[in-house]
Amino acid sequence: MNNIPLSLREKLKETCYIAGVKIVRRLVSSIDETVKYLFSLYDGEYIESVLMKYEHGYTVCVSTQVGCRMGCKFCASGLNGLTRSLTASEILAQIITAGKDRNVRVSNVVMMGMGEPLDNFENSKRFLKLVTSEDGLGIGLRHISLSTSGVVTGIEKLALLNLPITLSISLHAPNDEIRNTMMPVNKKWNIDLLLKACKKYQDVTTRRISFEYALIKGVNDSPQCAEQLAKRLKGIMCHVNLIPANPVKENSFEKPDLKSIKKFKEMLESKGINATIRRTLGADINASCGQLRKKEARL
Ligand code: SAH
Ligand code: SF4
Repeated sequence: MNNIPLSLREKLKETCYIAGVKIVRRLVSSIDETVKYLFSLYDGEYIESVLMKYEHGYTVCVSTQVGCRMGCKFCASGLNGLTRSLTASEILAQIITAGKDRNVRVSNVVMMGMGEPLDNFENSKRFLKLVTSEDGLGIGLRHISLSTSGVVTGIEKLALLNLPITLSISLHAPNDEIRNTMMPVNKKWNIDLLLKACKKYQDVTTRRISFEYALIKGVNDSPQCAEQLAKRLKGIMCHVNLIPANPVKENSFEKPDLKSIKKFKEMLESKGINATIRRTLGADINASCGQLRKKEARL
């Protein structure tokens, strides 16, 4: 930048850095063109992102933290706790870098990679501003989803911003007894408190809420669970995404067979709850988050 004085350049060098991300590894699925990236950050840490091709365009799943402190038992991202939160520009850089790499325009974003976005509230908020700005990527808020494990204070703060993004709640259980064994966050904010916050969020934003439910064999996949879940979600305008749990080396969770997954879906629908079974993308490249970083960083 020769157009600014040397003294200012020196000052910038001392006080600023450009937080981009560098591609360390790129795995391309031969089944569906899903691309999984392992990125390195300026300080040598690693994060993962995934670029997915849908009928309506390209979606990037971004990470918001290096690791995660929420400690969900089924998740590879949180196995070693939180290293640090990402800056807004590091979250943005994942989309720009993936789009440039494949020479495609990214039209949708899901904040569903490594980390808990509401445990990194200010940077997530700033990221939403940058990614939607006409001077940024110009992606509409309606094309963005933010997924949370249930940080109630964060949901309340997000409601105050009244943004038309899709709020996705990782519920995964129909009662506290089961949820407590899977997700430590439930001990701080139980399902009642979480669903109350969701209702409040919906009152403000009028947006449909998406509930993620990872089906784990013998843990949360019984017809009774489906029935309980439908009862609890009554009164919330919502959609349930059923995800066959991804096995992680460090735990012994297994996914149910397709027949019981379909039965679970039908049970929900018979009680008036919309549900879809999430299509698995990138099955051959292990596109679920946290596993690639763990291998690279030898965690
Ligand atoms: N921290 C946020 C967003 C990132 S996790 C959250 O928890 O919502 C993105 C999604 O992947 C969450 O719904 C999470 O519960 C789910 N997930 C994590 N590990 C999984 C696994 N092994 N199988 C299926 N889904 C998993
Ligand atoms: Fe963190 Fe989400 Fe993984 Fe839970 S599921 S440990 S909140 S990244």
